[in-house]
Amino acid sequence: MKKEINGKTKIIGLIGENVENSLSPLFHNQIILKHSLNFCYLPFQVAETDLGEAIQGIRALNIRGVNITFPYKEKVIEFLDELEESARRIGAVNTIVNNKGNLSGYNTDVIGFKKSLQDKEKFVIKEKKAVILGAGGAARGVIYTLLEEGIEEISIFNRTLEKAEKIKQDFSPFFPRSSINIFSFEQDNIKYKIKEANLLVNATSIGMASQVGNTPFSDEKLFHPNLLVYDLIYHPAKTLFLKQAERAGAKIINGVPMLVYQGIESLYLWTGFKLEEKEVLGMIERNA
Ligand code: NDP
Repeated sequence: MKKEINGKTKIIGLIGENVENSLSPLFHNQIILKHSLNFCYLPFQVAETDLGEAIQGIRALNIRGVNITFPYKEKVIEFLDELEESARRIGAVNTIVNNKGNLSGYNTDVIGFKKSLQDKEKFVIKEKKAVILGAGGAARGVIYTLLEEGIEEISIFNRTLEKAEKIKQDFSPFFPRSSINIFSFEQDNIKYKIKEANLLVNATSIGMASQVGNTPFSDEKLFHPNLLVYDLIYHPAKTLFLKQAERAGAKIINGVPMLVYQGIESLYLWTGFKLEEKEVLGMIERNA
């Protein structure tokens, strides 16, 4: 096991507005130690005004790559040299790889979301109906994945309607067989759409550690037992949103599996090392 940092150790890490509660440093460094990889994963808390300089710093310090988290997944794009196909289509980046100063943006959230739904929950996306709360960087990845897998209908609810409109505009041409509806955050529409949905995803930041006790909507009667309720948030592990859904008899999943699956893909991009699924599932269980 490689425990010491030496002159050849490569730095990878996480850039976000508030990285204190992230599980990523723990997750990556555990794998790095276990598999004797000569890497070290560090958290970098960066203010929005410093984002450009921080990204430039990746080149200057020869950092191998970083994850990008809330709320910079879209904002970071302007500072990169190139985007991999799905990151370009989605318009959000969660992983940067530095190849001799050339910064490429990837979106491994897509793989993380897809695997957590299909492999872990055995949820078949094709011809289902989903309600998505939020239209930020994470929501874009979630919506893209569902469309790619042949979902029948997606209803997006967001506080800022223009952001939901932009998603519809960007994605509709590529997925003409699926219907995308957009709404502002209004209870009446939500009630109707959730009633006929199979999947409900909270892709807003409402309920995160900094705002524990908040929930996208307070009416527990909106949940029903035929619904898989997915909260992308993983800290706290069970948000008020998930507690409400559970009380109403819905099946629930938090953001830990997605985080772990996307982490595996990011680590592979930086190191060439691919974890076994079995090991990952054990890790999910311990973290959940
Ligand atoms: P963004 O900042 O890009 O988007 C935030 C979203 O939340 C927007 O839709 C925003 O609405 C909405 N929102 C925030 N505050 C409020 C509020 N008070 N009322 C109504 N809507 C609100 O963030 P991300 O998309 O990157 O992240 C969203 C969440 O997903 C975070 O909690 C993040 O931790 C989690 N996540 C988890 C992952 C995992 O692996 N488990 C991966 C990626 C993200 P508006 O557009 O109106 O501002």
